[in-house]
Amino acid sequence: MKNSVRREEKDVFDAYLAKNHLKRSDQREAILDTFLRSDRHLSVDDLLQLVQRRRPDIGRTTIYRTLKLLQAAGLAQELALDGESRFERDYKREHHDHFICKSCGAIFEFTSPEIERLQDEIAADIGFAIEGHRHQIYGFCRSCTARSSRPEARR
Ligand SMILES: [Zn+2]
Ligand SMILES: [Zn+2]
Repeated sequence: MKNSVRREEKDVFDAYLAKNHLKRSDQREAILDTFLRSDRHLSVDDLLQLVQRRRPDIGRTTIYRTLKLLQAAGLAQELALDGESRFERDYKREHHDHFICKSCGAIFEFTSPEIERLQDEIAADIGFAIEGHRHQIYGFCRSCTARSSRPEARR
């Protein structure tokens, strides 16, 4: 990701905080910076681990609350997975959907103009105004499938 985008995301966050009469804090800044640099699908605990490498003083509650602020500011999107939410960057990103491995948690992004077009057609047929959608497709990734089909892994 380009530095200029990251700069913009920081400005968006500052503007959001100012508008909502919230304080800028170095803790919030450290969390945002770590989140932007990682550019992955992170659970609260994933982010906690990354942040605590530099800032062991920052706790889980602060991470969670800051992620919620990032979401409200349009900088993060939450993926509600079985049991655990993950957060990813959302600012100026193209729409995409996800394959999710139930075994190792790997996430693969995809976009399909054909699927998008079909949805629009079906929505038009039933007179439905789409605001957004999320496909989360669950299963097992290639390496987990390979691992579970090896004889020693069978039970
Ligand atoms: Zn897997
Ligand atoms: Zn994603």
